Amino acid sequence: MPGTSNSQVYCPDCNEKLQKCLIQQNYAIIICPSLTCGYPFNQRDILDNLTYVDDNDVLKVAKKRLSTRSKP
Ligand SMILES: [Zn+2]
Repeated sequence: MPGTSNSQVYCPDCNEKLQKCLIQQNYAIIICPSLTCGYPFNQRDILDNLTYVDDNDVLKVAKKRLSTRSKP
């Protein structure tokens, strides 16, 4: 089936929920938030975890951050 690349949600190493970490304006890398795990930096094919982020998604996240920050 085409589509749904980067659909991995949980870390294959420690089962922690993976997070998208924006490294450039339109690129994010899927990382494991666990400090003791180090995924995906322990992988050989780390570029598989690089994912393009649409401008709209960036804006959505930015707006979300702003709105959550302004709430007490
Ligand atoms: Zn992990």
